[in-house]
Amino acid sequence: VSALDWAAVRADFPLLGREVNGKPLVYFDNANTGQKPRSVIETVDGFYRRHNANVSRAVHTLGSEATEAYEGARKRLARFANVRPDELVLCSGTTFAINLVAYSWALPRLKPGDAILLTRMEHHANIVPWQLVAERTGAKIKVAEILPDGTLDLDALYAAMTPEVKLLGVTHVSNVLGTVNPVREICREARRRGIVVLVDGSQALPHRKVDIAAIGCDFYAFTGHKMCGPTGTGALWARKEHLAAMPPFIGGGEMIKEVSFDGTVFNDPPHKFEAGTPNIAGHIGLGAAVDYLDALGMDRVEARETELLAHLQEELAAIGGLRVFGTAKEKAAVVSFLVEGAHAHDLATLLDLEGVAVRSGHHCAHPLMRYYGVAATCRASLAFYNTHEEIERFAAALKKVRGLLA
Ligand code: PMP
Repeated sequence: VSALDWAAVRADFPLLGREVNGKPLVYFDNANTGQKPRSVIETVDGFYRRHNANVSRAVHTLGSEATEAYEGARKRLARFANVRPDELVLCSGTTFAINLVAYSWALPRLKPGDAILLTRMEHHANIVPWQLVAERTGAKIKVAEILPDGTLDLDALYAAMTPEVKLLGVTHVSNVLGTVNPVREICREARRRGIVVLVDGSQALPHRKVDIAAIGCDFYAFTGHKMCGPTGTGALWARKEHLAAMPPFIGGGEMIKEVSFDGTVFNDPPHKFEAGTPNIAGHIGLGAAVDYLDALGMDRVEARETELLAHLQEELAAIGGLRVFGTAKEKAAVVSFLVEGAHAHDLATLLDLEGVAVRSGHHCAHPLMRYYGVAATCRASLAFYNTHEEIERFAAALKKVRGLLA
């Protein structure tokens, strides 16, 4: 693979040129949401300026242009993740996607005595929907623990795959620790035991090449706003047989073939699950985001972020006096840390005064915080458009701030 001019890539992102508190912005909150390249912003803008109409309804020219662009985005997204477009339900993001599986797949199936298996490192979006389903069905939640280095305890996970487990929910990449889980191997073990697997891909697709078909899962949920796309976009990929068997989660227009007061014939998947006017402009923007990432090449994105992560880890080690969470070998460019004796929010507030944006808090992962015995951490999460110079500026700011808090 040929090298990219990363400075030119960075220049594609208008927001990264701004200042915060009189300092050039260092945006290290990419696990929370990513910035958007000009091509995505212009695609959304251009849709509203020239093509805006509702999809799948009107026969007029604008209506067919909008539908073509929307369905074109679905196709591009499907190609990007190596799945079939008719198995890709477009929705507002991972949270909706997981809820769709919880309400349409799990709720009608689970009963008392069944179990849902989750891991200690799940985001609340992959915990709370299952608790709601468990309450209503009488099923139990089981938890597979992690090891202190922030990797899954695979022996414990496989031992927990007992006959009452009907579904496993596991994140591909941890949003707090950066740990990349061996989802392919996990799916193989689960399938051998007849367990359906949902993989939360929120933090994977933006950072590495993901071949969903090769993973061998049943459901794969992801969000567009972390992968250069607009907010309120994302998708659920599901095996065809699941989509065919699942009742719709939300009812309304778009998702039907015929409605009478005696009953309704639903549209085919994926439309069966896309009731109402969707986020048309957003998903067309997500199509542009996927084109952008494709042009960079996900292998190059991953290599770039791995190099930035190594530099960040070096700088943090040199500072000393920090507690770093998650030291997996297979790790995305996410580092959670604390300055001994200081609160994460104070740290993040002082860093903001230096123009550095990091997230502080529980990162929607209370059970993981509890495992490490902390209420919150600071999290620096990188993207390919970050620079070595930013990492140095971040390290200098952190040193200064640590001095203030000590
Ligand atoms: N799962 C993980 C691992 C995440 O990082 C996030 C976003 N922080 C979500 C789920 C939820 O995504 P969204 O808010 O876009 O629905």
